[in-house]
Amino acid sequence: MQDLENFIINNFGIDKKVLDFCLEKEELVKEKFAEIDRITEYNQLKVLNAMQKNKLSDVHFAATTGYGYNDLGRDTLEKIYADVFHTEDALVRPQIISGTHALTVALAGNLRPGDEILSPVGVPYDTLQGVIGIRKEKGSLSEYGITYRQVDLKEDYSFDYEGIEKAINKKTKLVTIQRSKGYEWRPSLTVEQIKELISFIKSIKKDVICMVDNCYGEFVQTIEPTDVGADLAVGSLIKNPGGGLAAIGGYIVGKEEFVENASYRLTSPGLGKEVGATLGITTSLIQGLFMAPQVVNGSLKGAIFASKIFEDLGYNVMPLSKEQRADIVQCIQLDTAKNVIAFCQGIQKGAPVDSYVTPEPWDVPGYDCQVIMAAGAFVQGSSIELSADAPIKPPYNVFMQGGLSWHHAKIGVITGLQTMYEKGLLKL
Ligand SMILES: *Cc1c(COP(=O)(O)O)cnc(C)c1O
Repeated sequence: MQDLENFIINNFGIDKKVLDFCLEKEELVKEKFAEIDRITEYNQLKVLNAMQKNKLSDVHFAATTGYGYNDLGRDTLEKIYADVFHTEDALVRPQIISGTHALTVALAGNLRPGDEILSPVGVPYDTLQGVIGIRKEKGSLSEYGITYRQVDLKEDYSFDYEGIEKAINKKTKLVTIQRSKGYEWRPSLTVEQIKELISFIKSIKKDVICMVDNCYGEFVQTIEPTDVGADLAVGSLIKNPGGGLAAIGGYIVGKEEFVENASYRLTSPGLGKEVGATLGITTSLIQGLFMAPQVVNGSLKGAIFASKIFEDLGYNVMPLSKEQRADIVQCIQLDTAKNVIAFCQGIQKGAPVDSYVTPEPWDVPGYDCQVIMAAGAFVQGSSIELSADAPIKPPYNVFMQGGLSWHHAKIGVITGLQTMYEKGLLKL
């Protein structure tokens, strides 16, 4: 492998010391990688099986325009999603512009004035706070008379069952469960934990809708929240299930009634799923789904590699390299602003797009501090591609995610470490 090492040293400007350190860590996580490969194989076959079962054919790749009536490709894509997630129905559309939009459509379609939302896992993802009205925004659900209650995780990150039982009342219509840590320092929820939480909630109130924000979680395990009682699961196609090929889109899968309710909010009452032209992009959504298990594999390996490197350097990481993964996000507590900035700049240096650009912290609307974002992505904002974000405030957490292939994620992490090394922030 001398050729490869020399190529990396000569073409990516990596010090031999940095490279040797990283390669030594790679060796130590090989067993964990084998475990990830087995999950990927299962998920690849699950997706393949759904495509075969629905007789996917090249007629499905044709474009529709205008209203998009009888779009066979769109309908087949939705049947495939429903089979992959083992649900009655699915709404998978390029008209859903992001994960936040998909969650908005699922919530607004299923809630009516007087209903209450409960989050039993603490504060939801930043953008959702505006949607629900936890943070005041025009058009939020709270303006429509929908109320919100929250029960935080306990100090040891377990569910506060007593608090949840108290919070459920006759108005509680929908429970929203965020699988991924998002940008919080907390463990992401495994599907097994979600199962336990949903059974508890249903034992108190049988007809409450359990919706899982599945962003960053798809294909990380062999089962999904919809396999363990979730009535709805929602996510973004420029994250895991789009496999890096989908340039836009979101999905909502679950019970027919709830997916249908969402469809009337996405299009119009009376129109629902019957309309929505695909303009020729169905191929990329289907092919992206086909690639998704493999892309998630690369992302997970990148996350494990990074966690091993930084935990052995003495930093706090979540999760640890040996822990079970519940999403593709790796959080690293880098202790200083200088470390955070250098690492993110290094990640950017390893990107296929805009590798020559140096990201700097800036004032992002909606944040109480500056934020640095490293993303050299083919699709704008795509975080299934290798990316890193960090609010510039103590304890200086960096959230790294994505990687279209393991080998790209690997060089990205190495260039991240190299940049810290060059700035004198590391001793190896
Ligand atoms: C990314 C994300 C969202 C929102 O998705 P966008 O596509 O950025 O709007 C919601 N919840 C979680 C947990 C996420 O990771």
